[in-house]
Amino acid sequence: MYYPEPVTKLIDSFMKLPGIGPKTAARLAFYVLTMKEDTVLEFAKALVNVKREITYCSVCGHITEKDPCYICSDPHRDRTTICVVEEPKDVIAMEKMKEYNGLYHVLHGSISPMEGIGPEDIKIPELLKRLQDEKVKELILATDPNIEGEATAMYISRLVKPSGIKVTRIAHGLPVGGDLEYADEVTLSKALEGRREL
Ligand SMILES: [Zn+2]
Repeated sequence: MYYPEPVTKLIDSFMKLPGIGPKTAARLAFYVLTMKEDTVLEFAKALVNVKREITYCSVCGHITEKDPCYICSDPHRDRTTICVVEEPKDVIAMEKMKEYNGLYHVLHGSISPMEGIGPEDIKIPELLKRLQDEKVKELILATDPNIEGEATAMYISRLVKPSGIKVTRIAHGLPVGGDLEYADEVTLSKALEGRREL
């Protein structure tokens, strides 16, 4: 190849990241060559540490250093409400809003027959188990406002409603087809406030 091997390796590594094509990867690799060694070491350490030190909360599935996570172990949180989201970054979006005081359940995906992802492939069985153990009165379905997110919300709603737990879906007004994490705090807060019972 045109590049010395260590450079090729770094380019290949950058290309494993989402949204990074060969051109951007090469630009980043050449940029690393101009960085101070200390900064590069810090960067490499941050990459390794995020994998070593971050685990998933055994209760809610959120990313955490300690298990259970700070939300699940906080005695001031309302344990009668669980907000169901697709990804850990959605929990962070909700927390930034500072208006929700209940617990979470992270599904780690959504039901997608097109991609062969069924209810058992995401954390739905874990959610159902949690509902048996905890005194939950309301389940807020905050899956993404796209086809998969809606299908997932409907599926959970149908399973849970017979148990008598109130099941609500966050309001639209969130950009359709969008990701929960990209909603600004005001939109998200309105969507939560305007949730309707399923
Ligand atoms: Zn947790």
